[in-house]
Amino acid sequence: MQTHILGYPRIGSKRELKKACEQYWSGKIILQELLNVGRKICNDNWKIQQEAGIDLIPCNDFSYYDQVLDMTLTLGAVPKRYQKILLNKSNTELDLYFAMARGYQKDDLDITAMEMTKWFDTNYHYIVPEFHENQKFQLFSNKIINEFAGAKQAGINAKPVIIGLVSYLLLGKEKEVGFDKLDLVQNLLPIYTEILSKLQEQGAEYIQFDEAFLALDLSEKAKAAFQLVYAELRKKFPKLKLIVATYFDGLKDNLLLATSLPIDVLHIDLVRNPEQLEDVLEVIPDSLQLSLGIIDGRNIWKNNYETSLRLIDKAVQKIGSERIFLAPSCSLLHSPCDLDFETELNPEIKNWMAFAKQKVNELASLKALAIGSDDEKLLLEFNENKKAAELKRSSRLIHDESVKHRVGNYTKQDAERKNNFDVRKRAQQDLLKLPLFPTTTIGSFPQTTEVRNWRSKFKKKEISEQEYDTLLKEETKRTIEWQEKIGIDVLVHGEYERNDMVEYFGEQLNGFTFTKNAWVQSYGSRCVKPPIIFGDVSRPTPMTVYWSKYAQSQTSKWVKGMLTGPVTILQWSFVRDDQPRSETCKQIAFAIRDEVQDLEEAGIKIIQIDEPAIREGLPLRKEDWNQYLKWAIECFRISASGVEDSTQIHTHMCYSEFNDIIQNIADMDADVITIECSRSQMDLLGAFADFKYPNEIGPGVYDIHSPRVPSKEEMLHLLKKAEAVIPAKQLWVNPDCGLKTRHWPETEKALIAMVEAAKECAASF
Ligand code: GLN
Ligand code: ZN
Repeated sequence: MQTHILGYPRIGSKRELKKACEQYWSGKIILQELLNVGRKICNDNWKIQQEAGIDLIPCNDFSYYDQVLDMTLTLGAVPKRYQKILLNKSNTELDLYFAMARGYQKDDLDITAMEMTKWFDTNYHYIVPEFHENQKFQLFSNKIINEFAGAKQAGINAKPVIIGLVSYLLLGKEKEVGFDKLDLVQNLLPIYTEILSKLQEQGAEYIQFDEAFLALDLSEKAKAAFQLVYAELRKKFPKLKLIVATYFDGLKDNLLLATSLPIDVLHIDLVRNPEQLEDVLEVIPDSLQLSLGIIDGRNIWKNNYETSLRLIDKAVQKIGSERIFLAPSCSLLHSPCDLDFETELNPEIKNWMAFAKQKVNELASLKALAIGSDDEKLLLEFNENKKAAELKRSSRLIHDESVKHRVGNYTKQDAERKNNFDVRKRAQQDLLKLPLFPTTTIGSFPQTTEVRNWRSKFKKKEISEQEYDTLLKEETKRTIEWQEKIGIDVLVHGEYERNDMVEYFGEQLNGFTFTKNAWVQSYGSRCVKPPIIFGDVSRPTPMTVYWSKYAQSQTSKWVKGMLTGPVTILQWSFVRDDQPRSETCKQIAFAIRDEVQDLEEAGIKIIQIDEPAIREGLPLRKEDWNQYLKWAIECFRISASGVEDSTQIHTHMCYSEFNDIIQNIADMDADVITIECSRSQMDLLGAFADFKYPNEIGPGVYDIHSPRVPSKEEMLHLLKKAEAVIPAKQLWVNPDCGLKTRHWPETEKALIAMVEAAKECAASF
């Protein structure tokens, strides 16, 4: 039996890589200094795994920005627009690489960055490869080979981790119509061959190919590509040990395809899909070894040794321990680095957790236990692990009977407004008296350096709560007055009191805790520190009423209350693993429902519940969509349904494809939905138009992601475009989301023009 790690976090346990990259980008350190930081992180990571006694330690899991972009550079799939960059002789390969990731504005060049998108169903974002018909590839970067050599210097015969050829193609995008990216298999194979030859020459024994798509729905063509690619590689490299890693879902209908590939080791994710073990054991050929992904690579909880040992035992019984590898379910990239840094966590809760470094040790212990070690320390560890699980099961910190009771007594009525939209619409018109094409914004206003300074001073206790409160009130008041002056119809308070749209709520809810250092890479140098939901969720006191009420008291116009929805709070947190996600989501939904009702009672008659994460929560397999959508939409409705007909519920979603879930979005039954839209020139509205979406809708009329100020005419044009497909009486006028990232000067000009455009549009009716 052997242990291996599919990948280790590379940001550094103190986010050293983030800091070094940002310093390099701003010219504060030179290339060599950045490379030193990278080298040190690799060495530290290897050492952690070596000391834990891991058998196969990965290399090339490190990356300065993104592992998919690494592969793009390695394979010479550099889009044409970047080729000028190397003409400037002071630019290195890494500068080209960063230009592809972040764009390039220097030496009279102005080149946009490559597109970025989510890595499967995680919050990690990768840089999307760009493909052209008949594209030629070449071995362009030696990163993989260099990292292997680096590991060797550290005394490790590492296992290079490479994105599998088929998954690499499937991750990318065809840049013109009329060809299929899978047609590029034959052009890519020689480069993969060249890489493997070099690695073999240097003494590599094992190679890990990440082929997550094997756990997803596959076309016949993709299936054939898998067969062809691995048959070819096998033929060329009879001696190399080829590992194919699947994760994030079960093999399901790809079971026979995956187990019949001519490879040496198949890795399966037994955290996401433990049931697949039996199916795999049923059909696995004698020539194939099996890697059991038993430690959750995507969450922060301790492994339950008893449960894991039961799974391992099942596999041992069937195929013998020599054919078994043990591993985390997926790369530990999605876990924070080291729990030891969390000195301020409640010790009881901390005792339930394991971050990457701890998971590595768990893995080594599991192997020792599985092969029957009777080491005393180990047996002690086993007993402690068992005890932690038992204590967690009954902890008063986790279990709140009143929450369980309330959620348990849920009836369908909790998710129903009193009347249907037509009735509500009339009640809302009577109360709100809004004009045609009403104007609003999505919630936040510029979080200036000043505002951020106030918060940081307040946190460091350099200013008192009283002073902080006064400063925020002044800022809120200014914002309200300004919106009133330029003629916006539905005002927002500006969200100045909020650090982040999930953290702000998590901090005020029971059942959440926060870490000091549990950072996880989101993209490039950007890391997030998700809240941790460890117990039953409830809301001890109102969370937003104070600010909304204050804002409303400053104006005779309507102020819109601003909340984050239950699905988004769930999606952007680490969640408990002792109950289904749907159950946790429902608890959050009831907490938000209480907030909505309190806002209504405080005189806030328009309330927005942001749900930007609903779409990204979709399961990877289509067959699982309905089940997820059913509870996700239900949770939104629970949060929104406790109010009178005349209270107007808004929701907001960020840029996404709505076509395949438009029925579900309609089922949310929000009175108004605002969507991020301008980058698509209103094309996203098509889904709503075709569906004859019945409720009101506010497509973003300008992109807030750049400081560029749009003209009134531009926005008028977009409004006309919207009005051509959606009846005027259903339309709202608003920008895209995220004004908090902008500065005031451009925000002011753009919104003034937006209000003029809306007024002009309304006047034509
Ligand atoms: N209310 C939030 C804002 O305006 C919404 C953010 C989002 O869409 N992700 O910033
Ligand atoms: Zn948004």
